[in-house]
Amino acid sequence: MSTAQRHGIDEYLETIYFLAFPIGEYRPRGSGGGHPTVASRVAEMLGVSRASAGEMLKRLEAEGLVERGEQKQAILTVTGRARAEKVVRKHRIIECWLTGFLGYTAGEAHIHADELGDSFTEDMIERINEKLGRPERCPHGWPVETAAEQAENAELAPLAELAAGEHATIVRLAEHDGDLLHWFYDQGLVPGVEIEVRAAQPEAGQFVLALPEGERSVADKAAAGLYVRRIA
Ligand SMILES: [Zn+2]
Repeated sequence: MSTAQRHGIDEYLETIYFLAFPIGEYRPRGSGGGHPTVASRVAEMLGVSRASAGEMLKRLEAEGLVERGEQKQAILTVTGRARAEKVVRKHRIIECWLTGFLGYTAGEAHIHADELGDSFTEDMIERINEKLGRPERCPHGWPVETAAEQAENAELAPLAELAAGEHATIVRLAEHDGDLLHWFYDQGLVPGVEIEVRAAQPEAGQFVLALPEGERSVADKAAAGLYVRRIA
């Protein structure tokens, strides 16, 4: 099994989708076109080589899920986008089931949801969603319905874009890095928590936050993965 196949088609689509609908400075073009995605960023997020990502992107292209732009960007086709949206929605519903019904922590839920993605039929996902009372968000703050997620993107910013003195509420946590996700929970940096930026030195990749329980130092990597809503 090649490295590219270690991550299935759906996981690639999930990653391309995440990069196509970013929060913050890289806004999606127009209402729903999506931002082109560079193969190397896909490789970086999945922790695979560029060669492996390139191999898989060729396969996605052959299956009509992705088109390559002029700079070899990976752009979701209409079919690819529809499948990616289905995949992320399913992932979020499974996460809600893992935390709300099986008692897993939010930190554990993401990786287990990835493992279980293929095990449930569409009908099972709808039944789980109903049983859970149609949860609005996954445990990490991402709206279950992708239309709601995309509409909300414009209201949010990565913490890394905030200046000292700004107040904000944490809304969503980046999930693709399991260790970072656990760190967020260990530090109390979770959805719903209000923070104040005490110091921001983006040049040095350092931020100091005031939380209800005290101050936290946050490095660049973490500041780029905390999505917040500014409080005026
Ligand atoms: Zn989640």
